[in-house]
Amino acid sequence: MQNRGNIGQLLIDIIPDMCFVVSCEEMVLAYNQRAREVLGLAETPTGDLHFYSLLTDDSPHPLLPVMQMKDTLHEAEVRFKGKNGRVINALLFIRKIAGLDQEFLYVVARDVSQEKQKELDLLRFSNVVHYTVNPIQITDADGRMVYVNPAFEKASGYTKEELIGMDPKILSSGKYSKEFWQRVWEIIRAGNVWNGEIENRRKNGETFYAQLLISPIIDADGKVVGYLGSHRDITKQRQLEQQLMHSQKMESIGTLAAGIAHEVGNPLTSISSIVQVLLRTTQDEFFKGKLSLVQSQVHRITKIIRDLVDFSRPSNYQLQPTDVVKTVTEAVEIVKMGKKAKDVEFVTSVRQKIPLLSLVPDQVSQVFINILLNAVDAMDGKKGKVETVIDQDGDSVRVRMTDNGVGISSEHLPKIFTPFFTTKRVGEGTGLGLWVSYGIIESFRGDITVESKRGQGTTFSVTLPLNAEEYHHA
Ligand code: ADP
Ligand code: MG
Repeated sequence: MQNRGNIGQLLIDIIPDMCFVVSCEEMVLAYNQRAREVLGLAETPTGDLHFYSLLTDDSPHPLLPVMQMKDTLHEAEVRFKGKNGRVINALLFIRKIAGLDQEFLYVVARDVSQEKQKELDLLRFSNVVHYTVNPIQITDADGRMVYVNPAFEKASGYTKEELIGMDPKILSSGKYSKEFWQRVWEIIRAGNVWNGEIENRRKNGETFYAQLLISPIIDADGKVVGYLGSHRDITKQRQLEQQLMHSQKMESIGTLAAGIAHEVGNPLTSISSIVQVLLRTTQDEFFKGKLSLVQSQVHRITKIIRDLVDFSRPSNYQLQPTDVVKTVTEAVEIVKMGKKAKDVEFVTSVRQKIPLLSLVPDQVSQVFINILLNAVDAMDGKKGKVETVIDQDGDSVRVRMTDNGVGISSEHLPKIFTPFFTTKRVGEGTGLGLWVSYGIIESFRGDITVESKRGQGTTFSVTLPLNAEEYHHA
């Protein structure tokens, strides 16, 4: 037959947590089976075991405050020295019990090492997600965003406050059909990963391209509880591709133009000389009139052909040390003479001493004249101002020409460098000016870019590299 003490012992032995009875002197008076197993304690307590000797050196010592406190239940975290040197993170539930002539502490220690480990793992994972350069978003099962990392905020231009709770649709460029997204949803809802390249729109309206991987987050029961979207920003790459495509297009047009210029140029020269001969020999006023008309049309074609040739063969000319400031100043002087320019104010400023560049002065001057003439045209007969700033930016010289004219619509902006694109009336513009300019600047390994707002004005920036054959003022 078992007595009451044994039943009490049995009861505390089947508790899955470690249990201790501790005296007010912090000595361990009793413990259960679990404590014996985990800490490797003797079968019966010897009475001289101090509770803190069971803890690691760096563990908190939480008993004293409990003994001094009135309330009887207290929780604290400690670290036990386990068997085989294993450290056990434990949550203590400490209860004060009044005995016959003495108070005791009843201490239950729950092993939370696993939870601690999980917490740490989670912390590691969340840090990886948080600090990675890849924009990442997590949505719930309904597709509402519940988390975005800083890279995502940066890429999208939205703050996380603006994004949480939203549908990822707000980034949509509207480029893809409903069916496209439906297919994506079907795939991920079924628990599969979707991977593809997409075009998104930033808050400021700019496009950003991303390689997107969406994977469902699946719980232990196999249910989809959310989605993880991981982006790789490929905007830079796309931009470079587009630039390359653009310059290849320009190059092939150049080749084509050279061919046409040659094929049309030669017959044109003979037509021109025949017309001149006829003009000199005929006395008939009617014929003379008509022939002059032919001559002026031939002149017009010749000019276009010359522009085409300029674009395709800049190497006809000799490179020489060129003073860009002087070239710009002269171009301004020339354009100022024009009838349309009389109400336009020209201001030129030079930020620092500009070294001589190895260029073909006539060609570069043609570029600036083109840009300035366009600027004057953009005033539409009204008063206006054209400001030119010349400076050196790293290893290139930059010439920026800004007008406050009509500006260029975003629809026209991508087309202005293509040959024959013009918004001007027939006879007023050939649409070749910028195309030729582009070809010239490109041949010097420079760059020509434009920024414009409809109704506000336009800035053209020409950058020319300081190359190896760089000449300095003495
Ligand atoms: P063109 O001057 O013969 O029309 P360009 O190649 O010089 O040909 O220019 C192409 C087009 O670009 C112009 O017709 C005009 O629509 C636009 N453009 C160029 N520069 C400007 C400017 N500074 N302001 C407004 N529009 C411009
Ligand atoms: Mg022009």
